[in-house]
Amino acid sequence: MDLLKTITHQSSSNHKMCEQGRSKSCELKKKKNEEQTHAMASETSRIISDPSTGKCYCRGRVLGKGGFAKCYEMTDLETNKVYAAKIIPHSRVAKPHQREKIEREIELHKTLQHKHVVQFYHHFEDQENIYILLEFCSRRSMAHVLKVRKVLTEPEVRYYLRQIISALKYLHEREILHRDLKLGNFFINEGMELKVGDFGLAAKLEPLENRRRTICGTPNYLSPEVLNKQGHGCESDVWALGCVMYTMLLGRPPFETTNLKETYRCIREARYTMPSSLSSSSKHLIAYMLSKNPQDRPTLDELVQHDFFAQGFTPERLPSSCCHTAPDFHLSSPAKNFFKKAAAALFGGKKEKVKYLDGHHKLSKDDDEIFRLRRDLKRTSISQQTLRQRTDEDCTVMGKASTASVVKHSGLAKEDSRQMKDTIRMIVRGTLGSCSSSSECLEDSTMGNVADTVARVLRGCLENMPEVDCMPKEQLNDAFQWVTKWVDYSNKYGFGYQLSDHTVGVLFNNGTHMSLLPDKKTVHYYAELGQCSIYSTTEAPEHLIGQVTILKYFAHYMEENLMDGGDLPSIMDTSKPRLYLLQWLKSDQALLMLFNDGTFQVNFYHDHTKIIVCNQNEEYLLTYINEDRLSTTFRLTTLLMSGCSVELKNRMEYALNMLLQRCN
Ligand code: ADP
Repeated sequence: MDLLKTITHQSSSNHKMCEQGRSKSCELKKKKNEEQTHAMASETSRIISDPSTGKCYCRGRVLGKGGFAKCYEMTDLETNKVYAAKIIPHSRVAKPHQREKIEREIELHKTLQHKHVVQFYHHFEDQENIYILLEFCSRRSMAHVLKVRKVLTEPEVRYYLRQIISALKYLHEREILHRDLKLGNFFINEGMELKVGDFGLAAKLEPLENRRRTICGTPNYLSPEVLNKQGHGCESDVWALGCVMYTMLLGRPPFETTNLKETYRCIREARYTMPSSLSSSSKHLIAYMLSKNPQDRPTLDELVQHDFFAQGFTPERLPSSCCHTAPDFHLSSPAKNFFKKAAAALFGGKKEKVKYLDGHHKLSKDDDEIFRLRRDLKRTSISQQTLRQRTDEDCTVMGKASTASVVKHSGLAKEDSRQMKDTIRMIVRGTLGSCSSSSECLEDSTMGNVADTVARVLRGCLENMPEVDCMPKEQLNDAFQWVTKWVDYSNKYGFGYQLSDHTVGVLFNNGTHMSLLPDKKTVHYYAELGQCSIYSTTEAPEHLIGQVTILKYFAHYMEENLMDGGDLPSIMDTSKPRLYLLQWLKSDQALLMLFNDGTFQVNFYHDHTKIIVCNQNEEYLLTYINEDRLSTTFRLTTLLMSGCSVELKNRMEYALNMLLQRCN
């Protein structure tokens, strides 16, 4: 309208311009009408129906533009399932060879089914377009991730490459070459899983002599043999993967394209710069994949066995925050925020609680001793109820005042407290066999009864503690051992961890355990529970040298790559039996580590909170490390009498659930 006004105003001052202005205003009106008609048309074309099935879809937002296609979010109106739909106007593929290309892509893609390949669901056409319905990858592609992140960390690169390699192995086994592996063709779904997509340039692998010498289309990462028109083989996909790895780690491709001629020369000679900032294993692997001669490149199997993968940590999952922020792989945190939702579900409570109660029920039904303890406890349950009521009142009145202090000031509570303490001893202290010290337990216990005992202790506490939502005041300052770092490398060697006194332990996949003491010279080797052999690192028997090397490697890795998590100065006594890991267990929320003396630690991934329960001087202590890394230690008896915050209680319940799971 303003523009029209301007034109009219100009027209009054100049006739010629008036003519021009008038015709311009007519054009504008026409354009406006056209736009309105178009908008109406496109509104109706938001509902798309498949003429062959009658199924209706709603076209949503644009996801991106490709060579022939525009990609949209598209929802099946019957099932509400969301797809990524490539919509290709017939006019764009009018020429026979274009149409053939699309048809080839469809025919090839629809035969594929793999966890790391974008799933092809359906295709149809109407009068205007061809529609291809694909698995929707809500986090777009690796190109988008890298644009924001600039570079990725090595563990992330391992995470993504492993998934690409697994997809590629699937394709190559079917004699399908992708021929255009690039960041923009690696799609990421809601759960941060990678899916290889875009089969526009894919082709069947042909014997060397029958290979087509040219590709119609331009792959992003051309290999020397493709440039030299020798045809594309599996090795050419591996070359592209080398370029992908380089780009992920350094934020730029190995062969830049400002001067095409020079770039092609560099590709033909496999000449590129390798910054010293890269780790030696990644440098080696890139160079291996970017070998000039295709025969010198690794096969996909050789790739995953390379040191870059075999000797480095690969996260099992990545948090979605990795789309914009480098992850923090220190300590127990493979994925800082990833589990928040899941944890909310957990600590909100229903599903996991049911699980907990199930296990709970099983144990109590099977276990006479627990039954006896329960019966004994019943005697104190009335007075406990009284205490609980008083505690609730006092807590409300006194805000965060601890129940322990309430107990102190109440005659009745004092009586209850004494009575309860006796019972608690029975539950809490009761059943670590006949051992009076952790060293005796070494010889005495089996893994099952160590776990059963701590499960029983924890359960006794949880079952009987008053329901308050505040922490007891009575806190301790006892020093104890806990796991400050850990690495799960069980896909190859085992599970490694560092204790707060700098001892490094590895529970090997073969079931043996080795500790490297803080002097870095003494090794404790357990072939079985309680059977300790002591060696110096330099004089280990021949058959253990390999394991000692791996142990030292774990120690080195944790030293170099993982953040310190509150290690204490170490006090060395190399001969004393020490803490060593009996078993570890991971759930999607937390890691449980159970030690020989009944100490156990549960690390919650999503918020870094931890629970450590240990037995010291015949008493069970529980340490809670909260989200702010503040640590508080309580006697379990104190928790049993006074209760604790819901935050801690939920975690204790979860820890118990894990212990019970491991028993099952
Ligand atoms: P090209 O082959 O030129 O990369 P595509 O047609 O494969 O084009 O994709 C175009 C764009 O559409 C992509 O860059 C991406 O942003 C989006 N896209 C394609 N496939 C999917 C998918 N499965 N999920 C989400 N977005 C997708």
